[in-house]
Amino acid sequence: MWIDTHCHLDAPEFAGDRDAVRRQAREAGVGLCVLPAVQHSDWAAVQALAAQHGDAYALGIHPLYVPQAQAEDLEALDARLAQCRDDPRLVAVGEIGLDFFVPALCEPAMRDKQWWFYTRQLQLAVRHDLPVILHVRRSADLLLKGLRQRPVRSGIAHAFNGSAQQARAFTELGFALGFGGAMTFERATQLRALAVALPVDALVLETDAPDIPPHWLYRTAEQRQHGLPQGRNVPAELPRIAQVLAQLRGMPVAALAQATGRNARRVLPGLERL
Ligand SMILES: [Zn+2]
Repeated sequence: MWIDTHCHLDAPEFAGDRDAVRRQAREAGVGLCVLPAVQHSDWAAVQALAAQHGDAYALGIHPLYVPQAQAEDLEALDARLAQCRDDPRLVAVGEIGLDFFVPALCEPAMRDKQWWFYTRQLQLAVRHDLPVILHVRRSADLLLKGLRQRPVRSGIAHAFNGSAQQARAFTELGFALGFGGAMTFERATQLRALAVALPVDALVLETDAPDIPPHWLYRTAEQRQHGLPQGRNVPAELPRIAQVLAQLRGMPVAALAQATGRNARRVLPGLERL
């Protein structure tokens, strides 16, 4: 059985066929998905989807949604985490983090606001004794700084694409690193080298569906100019993405499934209950 540790099943891209998408993933061997939320208005939908499909979820405010987020959203998050204390499907605070790739988010005031939402949500994770699911984009060192100030129990650095040194720093803090579609591109030489060099205990698998399509779904800028939409990633792609990683590492796919499943349950202990 595979675990997709990062799947946005609530995304509007799945509005037309959400149930079929989840069913196809199950048929492909993906027994469990972790559904991270991105903003206050999504929390109820993510919880309902996890309950409907037997999946896990995380509650939080994603850095790309920080511009429109309010201080009250943090109070609401605190209250909802308390209210869901006994819900076995709640496994983390997420998706939280810092994004210094999107230009509008790099303005000084927005950097400060991102930092404030990130560190406040780390505090909530500590208070509610939950792991965190981190969005890392040109922000690994600052994310690590935040974690050293407010140590959470564990978590996942999702769609990791940093240096070997940053990877080691995350694992020393009890984190696993999420690998997915980006690693399927031959030109992603640095990421592939890292995916091979890291101890297998450091790895979890994810699709980030509907985003980060693997190379076989990816449409180039030129194809998109000619009217082809970008390929939609789905959780059913996880086994094929895993096969790429198994090949790169020269290990049997079954052993990779077992190791990454064990890692996911270690860093998100709530998964043991599902
Ligand atoms: Zn995400």
